[in-house]
Amino acid sequence: MRTLQGMASSSGFAVGITCVYSDEYEESVVSHYNISEEQVSNEIARLKEGFEKAKSLMQDIIKVSEKFSDKKVKEIFNTHLMILNDPELFEKMSGLIKEKKINAEHAVADVFEEYINMYKTKDVHFRELVHDFIDLRSRVLTSLGGAAGHFECPVGERQPVIVASKRLTPHMVLNIPREDVLAFVTEEGGYTTHSAILARSFGIPVIFGINVKENLKCTDRVIVDGFSGKVIVLPDEETEKYYLKKIEKYNKRKVFCDTKRDISPQTKSHIRVKLKFNISAPNELEIIKNFRHDGIGLLRTEFLFLEKEKPPSEDEQFDMYKLFLEGTAGKPVVVRLLDIGADKLPLYFKLPPQTNPDLEIKGARAVEGFYDIYLAQAKALLRAAKHGDLRILYPMVSDTSDVFTFKKLFSDAKKILRAEKKTFNDKITYGIMIETPSAALMADKLLKDVGFANIGSNDLLQYTLAASRGNPLVEKRYHILHPSMVKLFEMIVRAGRIHKKEICLCGEVGSIEEFYPLFLKIGLRSFSVAPARFPYIKCDLLHIGIAKKSNMLKKFYSAESKHALDKLFKRKYDFIKRGGKNEAD
Ligand code: PEP
Ligand code: MG
Repeated sequence: MRTLQGMASSSGFAVGITCVYSDEYEESVVSHYNISEEQVSNEIARLKEGFEKAKSLMQDIIKVSEKFSDKKVKEIFNTHLMILNDPELFEKMSGLIKEKKINAEHAVADVFEEYINMYKTKDVHFRELVHDFIDLRSRVLTSLGGAAGHFECPVGERQPVIVASKRLTPHMVLNIPREDVLAFVTEEGGYTTHSAILARSFGIPVIFGINVKENLKCTDRVIVDGFSGKVIVLPDEETEKYYLKKIEKYNKRKVFCDTKRDISPQTKSHIRVKLKFNISAPNELEIIKNFRHDGIGLLRTEFLFLEKEKPPSEDEQFDMYKLFLEGTAGKPVVVRLLDIGADKLPLYFKLPPQTNPDLEIKGARAVEGFYDIYLAQAKALLRAAKHGDLRILYPMVSDTSDVFTFKKLFSDAKKILRAEKKTFNDKITYGIMIETPSAALMADKLLKDVGFANIGSNDLLQYTLAASRGNPLVEKRYHILHPSMVKLFEMIVRAGRIHKKEICLCGEVGSIEEFYPLFLKIGLRSFSVAPARFPYIKCDLLHIGIAKKSNMLKKFYSAESKHALDKLFKRKYDFIKRGGKNEAD
């Protein structure tokens, strides 16, 4: 038995047989030959046909992906289609055919190689595109009748397997039939890659960071633990028994949590906790209707602005915000103003090249440069606020001057609305995203000027640890709930208590139920989480009590490594599953 430690990007368990899948691009498999001048037009026509075939396949996939509630799934394939529709890509390839007199496959391979190498050296946000280009390369080559991925053993085509491969592409997640895959184990990957998003939406466990070539071969029996990131190869009888029991419990829990949809979120000792949803697209409204909840704690409005040629109009936005208010039946809806950043930059936001986009024009800093766009959003929000409990959230504030910028924006918006004789709600609550160490350290001061704050732990983690978000190389060095962050959380909670302002945790750590005893211990009482995690968190809360005397925090702060922290939370997690006594003890 061997235990390999990787990182989980999609949770769940699997026990089964490995099948190595190879989608590795091998130069040698792609046909390379020269053509004559007379054959050039024919070869370009073949290339065109290959592109059309790939595009038509992509359109079919987009149709299939429409049935998933996750809008991101569709976006991934729309992006792929956009890339295939980019005339520059086709022209580069046809240019090579003409100029070098080479076959279409050769030109496809060379141009994609150029793009892949270029994106490999870019900022982490763009590096993610490497996998998309790899995926598209196999799509176009396959359409030309060339190389594609394959199982290295026939077993993968006959029974469900744990697919082991160098990398996971969106193409693999979608094209290897779901019923044939128990889990994916890969070498490359990351929590925010498109393939991980897809796998999560399918509910397939994924572990990355495992050297597949050296450690796994076809027909190996393995256990995949998509919670701890472990891959256990050739497990002994005792371990396998232990995991089968764990899986049984996990499945039971799913069923049990489903019975708790209608109760209010509260702890074992009946402390009412606010539990809200993080929403990024309108179709997620359907999911939240199934639960008793405390509203939308974070409505990311970027979906209205991204992948469009021009910003949405004030009226378009008004309709959308009203839809959200109606969909939450009078519950608060916290709408975050457009939060642009390196990975979410609308095409019409023309910025000079930024060498380190996370430290440059992002969040609050974009308002002054694109004032009209924000003004339209502010006006639409003020008008929509007449139709429900709408609250406004300022993204990535670093200091008080950022708050003033927003206040001025809303005061200007109100002036214009008055002049235009449009009705609006003048009494909205405004809050801030605390997601920079500066804002956390100054929370006491900032909270004087606003009505509430959300803790954005995703960005707070990257800025506190100086470790880029979504980069697996640095991601794996630190614990996602680093003690330095919890110290900052404590400061923010204290400031909230002094000023009697709600502090809501809305970053991804809030979607991990193991951490709740600690969150509750430090006084957090409001959370906004991913819809998929909502039922589990609500149901776990019921097992957590809050004891005044407890050495939990002391233990947490004295854990000296990521490993020690993992151990600490794993024990707690097992404890919750046993329905034990006060968790925060
Ligand atoms: C965060 O940074 O934690 C957050 C919620 O904002 P986003 O993930 O949209 O940057
Ligand atoms: Mg953020």
